[in-house]
Amino acid sequence: MIPAHGKSLCTPSALAAARLVQAERLGDLSRVAARYAVAITPAMAESIDPADPHDPIARQFIPDIRELEQRPEEASDPIGDERWSPVKGVVHRYPDRVLLKVVNACAVYCRFCFRREMIGPGRGGLSARELAAALDYIRAHPDIWEVILSGGDPLILSARRLKDLVARLSAIPHVKVIRVHTRVPAAAPERITSGLVAALRAKDKATYVVLHANHPRELNAKARTAFARLIDAGIPMLSQSVLLRGVNDDAATLGALMRAFVECRIKPYYLHHADLAPGTAHLRTNVAEGQTLMRALRGRYSGLCQPTYVLDIPGGHGKVPIGPDYLSAGRGIKDSLSVEDFNGRRHAYPQRPAS
Ligand code: SF4
Repeated sequence: MIPAHGKSLCTPSALAAARLVQAERLGDLSRVAARYAVAITPAMAESIDPADPHDPIARQFIPDIRELEQRPEEASDPIGDERWSPVKGVVHRYPDRVLLKVVNACAVYCRFCFRREMIGPGRGGLSARELAAALDYIRAHPDIWEVILSGGDPLILSARRLKDLVARLSAIPHVKVIRVHTRVPAAAPERITSGLVAALRAKDKATYVVLHANHPRELNAKARTAFARLIDAGIPMLSQSVLLRGVNDDAATLGALMRAFVECRIKPYYLHHADLAPGTAHLRTNVAEGQTLMRALRGRYSGLCQPTYVLDIPGGHGKVPIGPDYLSAGRGIKDSLSVEDFNGRRHAYPQRPAS
């Protein structure tokens, strides 16, 4: 674990002392911090421009009094993890994969986190007995092809604990892929040591690391060194980002983020529509805005730079793509289609009838 939050900023007064918030906001921010965890790592604190009141890194990590405004549509478990949890720590929503939530703490606490009611320092993770039960569940379900380590952030675990976990998962014959969802390679790149990288590698299994990052400034030089350490060791990386108002909801920033991923050999994977987590309305966009942004990327940025824009259906019904649709019914010929190019011009596509 990160040692007692070492140099991370974990209280409003620490944020004020670091000149990231003004002293007059302390009262408000303390009320937010009493409800939702706060932590900003040195790497992320250094990326914030304190002179910019709209700084996109600050917006992701510095508490905001609006977090105490909960809307009726917002829920503490917005994507319905609980409904699909057969044993503690396991979410089995889709047939061939499970989430294994090994730890409930993170290196940084995102103000839009969809599990914000469940995570925080001191929330612990799975006990040895609970982890054994979770692994028993995975072992007993041969359809589970992939295990996604999540949390919290699994890469706050020590290399020793990760190595043990990866070895135990690797020993399950039907588990072929171990996927790690994390913010650590950018938020705390010093944690990506050769020991941690070695711990993630599994004999005869594929390990993928999916980096959560939302703004190109998160991918600084130290972060890029950490990514290279993982990728050069044979661990492919993918990205996931959350579409956030005032952070990345313009085409230039979103495009720059996707290009930065690709330049780092990280394949853009998901662009998440922000979930209905409590107190996050000020950070959400609407779906039409997200679709417009996806249209702006298509054709103007390399195909490598195209993530899939997805929505987790509230209530636990799974993730679905919600990007723009380029196809519609054609006119005249039965079964023909009209397809739109990236400049908005429509073209007939005279396909053969369905058999
Ligand atoms: S790193 Fe992930 S789990 Fe942790 S606060 Fe951010 S979004 Fe939530």
